[in-house]
Amino acid sequence: MRLRVPSEWELGRVDGDADSGYARLDDARMVRAEVEWRAAPVRGARRPVSDLVDRYIEQLQKKADKSSMDFSVQRQAKFLRDKRWLEGSEYETFIWEADYRAYNLARACPECQRIILLRVLAPVGENAEALVNEVLPTLEDHPREADQGRTFWSVYGMRFLLPAEFVLSDHELKSGHIRLTFEKDRGDRTLRIHRLSMAQMLLRERDLAEWFPSFFHKDLRDFKHIVTAGDPGEAQSVHGHESVRVSGEPRSRWRQILRPLPLVNPRPRRYLESAVWHCPDENRICVVEHLSKKHMEGGHDFLKELTDGYACHSQKTTSDARSDDELATGAQ
Ligand SMILES: [Zn+2]
Ligand SMILES: [Zn+2]
Repeated sequence: MRLRVPSEWELGRVDGDADSGYARLDDARMVRAEVEWRAAPVRGARRPVSDLVDRYIEQLQKKADKSSMDFSVQRQAKFLRDKRWLEGSEYETFIWEADYRAYNLARACPECQRIILLRVLAPVGENAEALVNEVLPTLEDHPREADQGRTFWSVYGMRFLLPAEFVLSDHELKSGHIRLTFEKDRGDRTLRIHRLSMAQMLLRERDLAEWFPSFFHKDLRDFKHIVTAGDPGEAQSVHGHESVRVSGEPRSRWRQILRPLPLVNPRPRRYLESAVWHCPDENRICVVEHLSKKHMEGGHDFLKELTDGYACHSQKTTSDARSDDELATGAQ
């Protein structure tokens, strides 16, 4: 789901997965936008969008009745100035008003058939139509063709492109450490993408090659690993920054047997390739990890593709012809 919003709107909550989920954006004052999505049913016809709106409104009405709150709805509301971007899709725009005024768009995407319910919220009495008309038309619910089989991810300003076959399986969004985990082929291959804040402090008494194994010692205990440092400017550097590469192979089976193993779900034996770099421009440490059951031939090239697709700081590119290059490279 891609949406261009005012920079003060931050992700407040996210639930679910690619098939169905919910995300909320807040500013310092209140909830500003909510988006719900659901994949089209695998078999059988999907319900008309207006039916879904009926049901949604009914639920809201019930809630309002319970708390004896004023609630009003305006179906087929005409607040969108330009509707050309919605041509060919089944949709309805409507407004409900309770403690907030909500501008809603319910839509079935003509390309991927996903159902989206997006609303932008405003305090009652505040005219938010200009804002609504800026935000709503930027909605995209499937990867762009220009991304060439890759999915663009952006959360709290951490931005990167990944091969679309890798599906988000876990996320941890702490302010100092963001970690997103992706899987392919039912866990045969895993990608972990990290961003750590306050790099200067983390690296105050040691360099990257010392810091990484100690910070990630839990993740590394299943591997026999080698850390190789690359100088900035060398072919190995990432976006011109100080970087290290970490290669790991599974420890001997003996070693694994001696260790107390979880009985039900023993950790699979896997190979590891990681790139770690320090971006002083943003005072961050970025980590890209690739785990696979098979030792990957040319694993370094794949890792390079991943680090190239990770926008660690704003930069102007001239070679990148992608229409959203200002997003992909992290320019504000
Ligand atoms: Zn779509
Ligand atoms: Zn950087």
